[in-house]
Amino acid sequence: MHALLVTGVAGLVAGAMSMAAGEYVSVKSQSDLENADLAREKKELAETPEFELQELTDIYIQRGVEPDLARKVAKQMTAKDALGVHAREELGISDLTTAKPLQAALASAGAFSGGAAFPLLFILFLPEAVFVPAASVLCIALLGLLGAVAAYAGGALPLKPALRIMFWGAAAMGFTALIGSFFGVSAEF
Ligand SMILES: [Zn+2]
Repeated sequence: MHALLVTGVAGLVAGAMSMAAGEYVSVKSQSDLENADLAREKKELAETPEFELQELTDIYIQRGVEPDLARKVAKQMTAKDALGVHAREELGISDLTTAKPLQAALASAGAFSGGAAFPLLFILFLPEAVFVPAASVLCIALLGLLGAVAAYAGGALPLKPALRIMFWGAAAMGFTALIGSFFGVSAEF
């Protein structure tokens, strides 16, 4: 039991770190791209302002604004915050969507640790004899609950997301157990 707990804690820490690292790298490269786009846009605004104004005007025309009004809107918005309006309308970057690698990494690590803490609790409270089947069933049920809560929080119907996450959770557990059995690592202790 002790060995399983140590393995579980090690798995939690390693998993949280790998989630954080993966998330950081992925979001960081997205933010690098955004920054490069913004720098190029800034340069273009300084060097070819008339071209940029026409570009913005065309964007509003495409969205259904009359050409004269589109030019007027583009001019006024450029006067207020040229880079901001080009970032939003042309590049699709806004304050809300800006990639934040550190926050994303911390959120991933926290979510992973929170989820991984439950199986560890099961190790402490479940009797050894029934641990593997009982913990598997409990984990899948918990996944279903989390899926339902997440769907509810997002305003979706809970049943389908709950079933989906239970199915993929069970599949992931099955694969992990299968690979473990190939290498002679069983869940017996
Ligand atoms: Zn532009």
